[in-house]
Amino acid sequence: MVARPAEQRAISLNLVKSHVMHQTMQYGSASSGTKLENRNCRLCQAPLKTTFIDLGMSPLCESFLTAAQLDHMEPYFPLHVLVCGNCFLVQLREYVKPEHIFTEYAYFSSYSTSWVEHARQYCLMIKDRLGLGSESHVFEIASNDGYLLQHFLPLNIRVTGIEPAANVAEAARRKNVPTLVEFFGLELAKRLISEGCRADLIVGNNVLAQVPDLNDFTAGMAHLLTLNGVITLEFPHLERLIAENQFDTIYHEHFSYFSLISVDRLARRHGLKLFDVEQLSTHGGSLRVYLSRTDAAHAVLPSVNSLLDYEREIGFEDINSYSRFAAKVHHTKRDLLSFLIAFKERGAKLCGYGAPGKGNTLLNYCGIGTDFLEFTVDRNPYKHGRYTPGMHIPIYPVSAVDEIRPDYLLILPWNLKNEIVGQMRHVGEWGCKMIIPIPSVEVIDPRDFAL
Ligand SMILES: [Zn+2]
Repeated sequence: MVARPAEQRAISLNLVKSHVMHQTMQYGSASSGTKLENRNCRLCQAPLKTTFIDLGMSPLCESFLTAAQLDHMEPYFPLHVLVCGNCFLVQLREYVKPEHIFTEYAYFSSYSTSWVEHARQYCLMIKDRLGLGSESHVFEIASNDGYLLQHFLPLNIRVTGIEPAANVAEAARRKNVPTLVEFFGLELAKRLISEGCRADLIVGNNVLAQVPDLNDFTAGMAHLLTLNGVITLEFPHLERLIAENQFDTIYHEHFSYFSLISVDRLARRHGLKLFDVEQLSTHGGSLRVYLSRTDAAHAVLPSVNSLLDYEREIGFEDINSYSRFAAKVHHTKRDLLSFLIAFKERGAKLCGYGAPGKGNTLLNYCGIGTDFLEFTVDRNPYKHGRYTPGMHIPIYPVSAVDEIRPDYLLILPWNLKNEIVGQMRHVGEWGCKMIIPIPSVEVIDPRDFAL
């Protein structure tokens, strides 16, 4: 008996609400040990003192609301990002326990066709590079709906997905991808080993940012590896976040924001070495790092030191260089609002395209509600009929754009800009233009946009 998504979501929101009460108690006392711990770096435990960016108070960006929930109290948490003066990890304090965020998740990776294709190409590449075969065992942590591991099945490679959100794990099982509904850490790694499992490859795409206990997580990966086993992790690169002004990728579900310098320090703490790194265009600019045990046969490639050197050159080991980011973010907010206000004053009809998590940081921080956007649309049917957290913008199927024929579409998943322009180019037929908010506000005519 599987609960319907709406029921599951309601359960999850109740958990968040009860957790808010718990948090108040937990952090209410100045003498509480938990409070002190929460004020320290999650990688090296040094006290956190320097602000990277403070985006104010915001609801959980994946807590899409039903119509009935609009009448209820909605929990808001600080979106205040700090940087550690010791190891330079950029991070949010843990305001919300991950089990309240990730046990029910509205994001299904397979809704992005370009992301599924990225995963397919990775699987073919890594199979050849590591010589994986029918004896190999590949694990993916945060395997979502099986968007990646499914590509190993026709190659006869054994796979295990690990995914704490039961609803997306169920979608993976329907694709014949064996999936454990669990959080990953040292305890699970030990249990898997006691069951006779070892990992020739551990894949973690866009999961590292969501890990509250980085040391336990990395210790678990190191423990599960075979002698020459490899870990590949993909995560948005902090350098891109700063250079491209991607402040909307900051949300409560993302506890940490990584440079190669911080990942290198994390790896060394757990007997791992960074032996290769690639720069990818995904999610606004990501790194794919390759890790192995320090005593493994993998030689460290020049790519590693050259990127570490570059990060030092741009000041990633200088605490003062981090404080410049905030002014850029403040400027973008004023700019985007100026555009939207000017369009509304002219009587234009505006709506959003997409309802991604990042969109909710942008909308809440800038205060963009239904006074600007009549509605937004999304390809994910799970979100249809729901409302964005905080700003309460209704979410419709994509076909609503053709019915309402707006003058402007605000593209919230700007990282999928090319894919969206390709799919939605026809809106140009009635003169509709697209607003791309990040890195700086840009208005494009989809008919003229070369893909
Ligand atoms: Zn630190």
